[in-house]
Amino acid sequence: MTRQLIAGNWKMNGTLAAAEALARALLDAPRDGIGAELLVCPPFVHLQAVGRILNGSDVALGAQDCSVAAGGAHTGDVAAPMLPELGCTHIVLGHSERRQNHHELDETVREKVVAARAAGLVPIVCVGETEEQRAAGQQDDVVGWQLKGSLPNDFADGPGVVAYEPVWAIGTGRTATEDDVAAMHGFIRAELVRQFGDKGASVRILYGGSVNATNAAALLGVPEVGGALVGGASLKPQDFLSIARAAV
Ligand code: 13P
Repeated sequence: MTRQLIAGNWKMNGTLAAAEALARALLDAPRDGIGAELLVCPPFVHLQAVGRILNGSDVALGAQDCSVAAGGAHTGDVAAPMLPELGCTHIVLGHSERRQNHHELDETVREKVVAARAAGLVPIVCVGETEEQRAAGQQDDVVGWQLKGSLPNDFADGPGVVAYEPVWAIGTGRTATEDDVAAMHGFIRAELVRQFGDKGASVRILYGGSVNATNAAALLGVPEVGGALVGGASLKPQDFLSIARAAV
């Protein structure tokens, strides 16, 4: 079985000094009992500094977004080919905070996945329903459409990850129940196989949304959970590593 992936999404947090200290703390802490793959995704402006610290270590580096374009007149954007130069191997795309705050559509996310892949990055594509959509029983429809719209036809031909992050569980302390996670991850797996055939069976599916050191073991033990995408708790090195210790 593939090792689980524990990814920290640092979002828009921290000074440069804090980012460097966090990266150093992850490397300095004891690693006993950690079999999971580790990844951190700092803000763009801290990538280079964190990348220098993590260089040669077993903690991988990822970005939180990229442009659909490979370069050119796109003021304020960052092109995917700029990211591997800084040490990035992964990229989070279509996070609900980008879908909400920047009106990213599935089609945009799909174009970003193509751009990231062309630059050699492993895309981590986020999907998940809002509280209203779940209350209306629409979670499968919503996530099904997001998967269809956000993943290019060749998604399963290379390394790629899907992250299920129910919007109502992000930053709220309200984790999805193990039953909710089992049902949705089973649904996502079935959709991936329907969309991509046998290759869809090997796409990793992460859970994200208020994962912490206390609930990690239960969530990571749910079938079809291939790891976690961690927000708030990834800013505390001990918590992040405790989550990683709970992984299989
Ligand atoms: P929290 O772990 O803070 O709920 O954030 C989850 C998330 O959005 C990770 O991408």
